[in-house]
Parts: sequence; structure tokens; C-alpha cells
Amino acid sequence: MQKSFQIGAKSFVLDQTKAEAAFAAKQVINGRESMTFNLLPLKYQWAYDLYRTMKANHWEPEDIPMGKDIEQWRDEKTVSEVERWIIRMGIGYFSAAEGIVGDNIQHVVRELVTAPELKLVLGRHAHEENIHADSLLYMISSLQINPHECEAMFEDIPTILRKNEFVTRTSRALRRDLDLTLPENKRLLARNVFVFGQCMEGTQFYGLFGMVLSLYRQNKFPGIGQMFRYTLRDESNHIEVFRNLFMDLVDENREIWTPEFKDELRGLMHEAVELEKEFIRDCLPVNSIGLSAEDFITYIDYIADRRLESCGLAPLSPGVKNPLPWLAEMMDIKKEQNFFEGRVTEYQKASALNPVRDDDL
Ligand code: FE
Ligand code: MN
Repeated sequence: MQKSFQIGAKSFVLDQTKAEAAFAAKQVINGRESMTFNLLPLKYQWAYDLYRTMKANHWEPEDIPMGKDIEQWRDEKTVSEVERWIIRMGIGYFSAAEGIVGDNIQHVVRELVTAPELKLVLGRHAHEENIHADSLLYMISSLQINPHECEAMFEDIPTILRKNEFVTRTSRALRRDLDLTLPENKRLLARNVFVFGQCMEGTQFYGLFGMVLSLYRQNKFPGIGQMFRYTLRDESNHIEVFRNLFMDLVDENREIWTPEFKDELRGLMHEAVELEKEFIRDCLPVNSIGLSAEDFITYIDYIADRRLESCGLAPLSPGVKNPLPWLAEMMDIKKEQNFFEGRVTEYQKASALNPVRDDDL
């Protein structure tokens, strides 16, 4: 099928079948190599939709007031030592983790996928990791924490070191020039996308999310809590980006979806959960008001199973109940995507983000 245009003395012929062939060649991997960013026609509608949602959620750390946090950080009476330690662990862990996620997107996943709309949403994802890293810098400087102390945390605290090693090993194995026509390499990529999206961002971020938001619920460190809420909203989109990517990759490459591979992925989630439990015990060596390590540990079992099921994998602790129902309000997998809707105005229209009221919790 051809369409001709006669413009003045010149005639142009556009070939519809060529355009259709180009569309058909769009794939998660091994698709049409294109130097042009030809987004249309969209094949992965979800990627474009998520890109737009993520863009509308834009926030900047400096929009969040830190006055109350600074006051509380200095006041020995309002917050206990263990509560301050949770904040230190939060800043220490995420300072490393946000960078690791961003690096893996830019140098591994975005390099290997071929469809332009996937590259588009991954670009936004990487940018949000920069915003998160910047928010930690803002917390560190507001509280006047020595930055070297923060760096020391991810070198000196073994449970942070082990969490980081767990994800970086699946990233290092996959740098450029990988032959993605080989099933074992396709599995390497699928494993990477699963580990980063479901094990790390989807599960290992949630111990600290829970603890910091539990403090926030008691009006402790409201600025930090607010930033964690915005970060959590972003992370729930990141988990969706990587879940969709994983599902489409498997769908287009059915040969990798073997019982052995499924077992391997469940084994990796099991490892992620164990590392997170050890980490939670380091964050919360003694229980504090409203904070029990055992509850957060059970919460990790609960959330890990939701991630597995969302990828078509069997749960590790079937029947485990959510021990923190108030957290479900903020973090429930089904609700979290809509959680902030109506409360946070589009960034372009707002000079400052709306404060979150207590009755929202
Ligand atoms: Fe992040
Ligand atoms: Mn993320």
C-alpha cells in the first residue's frame, strides 16, 4: 500500500507496508535498531502512560520545609536515640541505593532495550533516582550530618554492604555488547529486571519506608517523612515499569520461562528477604514506641509475596498476613498507585507541594 503526495513539481511516495514492518519489528530486545526516537506508533502503551504519570508527579526536595526536623534532630528529648539511628540508616542506605538503581538503568537496561518508548520511560526513571539522591543530600545538609559519616555507613555496616552486593552482582554481569539472541543472556537481563524492580525497589526499600513513615505518623521528622512519601510514590511507579518490562520480555521470549528459571527467581527473592530482615534488625536493634522489628520483618514477607504473585510466581510464605494495617493504607500494592491522587498538584501549577495532613494517614 502506497500513498503519494504531489507538492508543486515534486512527488513523494510513502510506503505504508514499510511503516507497518517497522512497527512489527518493535520489541523489548533485539528489535529494530533505530537511531531515531520514533515513538509513534506506540507498541508499549503502558510505558508512555507511566512516563506521563511519573512526569506529573515531579517534585523537588527544596520544596519541603525542614525546620521542624532540624529542631527535633537537635533536641534530645523529643526523639530517642534509636529513632535518630533509623534516620541515619535511612540516609546511609538510600544514598548508595538510589545511585545503584540509576546506574543500572542507564548502563544496563536502557542500553539493552530497543523500543523507543521503553527508553523514554527509563530515562524518566533514571532522572527520578537523581531526584531521590538529591533529596538525601538535602536531608544530610539540613541536619548537618557529616557526609563522610554517611559514606562510611555503606562501607562499614555489613548488612548494607550485603544488600548492595546482592544487586550490583546482577548489574556487573551485563554491561554493553551482550548477545541478546542467546537464551542465557536473555535470562541474565530478565533476572536483572526482576532483582532491581521486585527484590530491591519492590521489597528491600520497604523496611526503611515502613520505619520512617512510622515516625512520620508520630509527627517525628515531618520533612524527611514527606520526602519518603514522595519517594515511595515514585518507587511504586518504578516497580510497575520494571514489572511490565519483565512481563513483556518473558512474553516475547517464552523459551526462557522454564520451571528452573522460575525457581531461580523465587530463590533470589528469598535471598533478598533474608538480607532485608538482617538489615531491619540493624536499623531497629531495640524496639521503640510504635516500632517493633518483628512487625517490619513480617511485613517484608508479606510484601515480597505480593511482588512474586504480580510476576506470576508462587509466594514464599503463603497466607502471611499484613502485620501493619496502617501501613497498608500507604503501601498496599493496589492502592499505592492512586494514593496521592488529588492531593499533590501538578508540579508546574504549584509553587510548593501541599502539606500532607494527619487525617490523611
Ligand atoms: Fe529511588
Ligand atoms: Mn526507584
